[in-house]
Amino acid sequence: MSEKYNPYQNMLDVLDDAAMRLGLSINDYITLRQPERELIVSVPVVMDDGRTEVFTGYRVQHSSTRGPCKGGIRFHPASDLDEVKALAAWMTWKCAVVNIPYGGAKGGVRCDPSKLSQSELKNMTRRYTAMILPILGPEQDVPAPDVNTDAQVMAWIMDTYSTFKGHVVPAVVTGKPLEIGGSLGRREATGRGVMFSLLNLLETLGLEKQGKTVAIQGFGNVGGVAAQLLQKNGFKIVAISDASCALYKQDGIDIEAATRYAEDNKRLLVGYNEAGIEVITNEELLELNVDVLIPAALENQIKEENVNNIRAKIIVEAANGPTTKQADEILEKKGVIVVPDILANAGGVVVSYFEWVQNEQSFTWDEDYINSNLEKIMKKAFDEVWQVHVDKGVSLRLAAYMVALERVVKTKKLRGVFP
Ligand code: GLU
Repeated sequence: MSEKYNPYQNMLDVLDDAAMRLGLSINDYITLRQPERELIVSVPVVMDDGRTEVFTGYRVQHSSTRGPCKGGIRFHPASDLDEVKALAAWMTWKCAVVNIPYGGAKGGVRCDPSKLSQSELKNMTRRYTAMILPILGPEQDVPAPDVNTDAQVMAWIMDTYSTFKGHVVPAVVTGKPLEIGGSLGRREATGRGVMFSLLNLLETLGLEKQGKTVAIQGFGNVGGVAAQLLQKNGFKIVAISDASCALYKQDGIDIEAATRYAEDNKRLLVGYNEAGIEVITNEELLELNVDVLIPAALENQIKEENVNNIRAKIIVEAANGPTTKQADEILEKKGVIVVPDILANAGGVVVSYFEWVQNEQSFTWDEDYINSNLEKIMKKAFDEVWQVHVDKGVSLRLAAYMVALERVVKTKKLRGVFP
């Protein structure tokens, strides 16, 4: 990760700003400026050709103040400690802003999963789980999917943990397959939450949703699902992209057809075609003249170099950390409304929470109950953040951090510092 856009520094800058505006002293939140625990592990894997390769893995627990640490695991070639630290801290703020009883954590393995066979991926996942196992547990730290990890990876984590414990422990991980204690609605939850965030914003602004043009960067579990749900809701998805290519069509792309294509094509869009569609670059996608831009891929996509070319009036951050602090300030000056990551993409962890509660109760909820509770939680959080935005005259990002930080600091004060 380049020093210029160190995501952990980015997080700290916003945190310090939020603390200052809340009138907190450094003593009130100094413990939140660094993670509680950072674990770096070596993950040896015997590859299919007989060689042993050693991957580096991380699990960072930023805070357990409000409950068990919670957050995904990503497999990515650029994963490093600072990235995982930032992602862990964002989970703390995310869980606090939607007011669910969790702290924040994140994990990563530095690898290129597209170059691993299924058995290499499985062995890497199992060994990584074994290496971080001492700090995992349903009451301790509960992983979930993130970039390049899915329900199958969660199943391997659950099985490895359960094998070591000697009994089945479904609640150690969320985002599992339904058959082993996963929750209805979990796979779609982050994308659905992104849609609720956009609908809440438009409603608050008194704006019509019908026909609004949307560009989405990222077509995975978050961007792909958001595209489907938004199209069903009357939005016009004019651009989509993934790591393989970016596509544009002025009249709107047929998202169902693109999704089916990607499913049959190793989850990639490259080669997808329909009448009137153009291949563009990922950079061009970000700079399209659309009503709504949804970055749903990785960090640091909107930065000093391209922020002045951004033409969307609304940005809904489905990815974690897609906007740098400097770019954020410029967007604010330009009057672009940014629904920040810790609010906009919180739907995933909210339904993870529902999954964990169902596991702890050995009981299952139906999908309508899950989706309507998700909608309620997203609306309440949005309204609380919007109120602070209006009352204090700060950006939605700062408002979200202020809501979150105030909650965590209150809990910290009540619990005190051990001993
Ligand atoms: N990885 C997702 C996120 O960044 C989900 C985390 C979870 O469900 O624990 O919010």
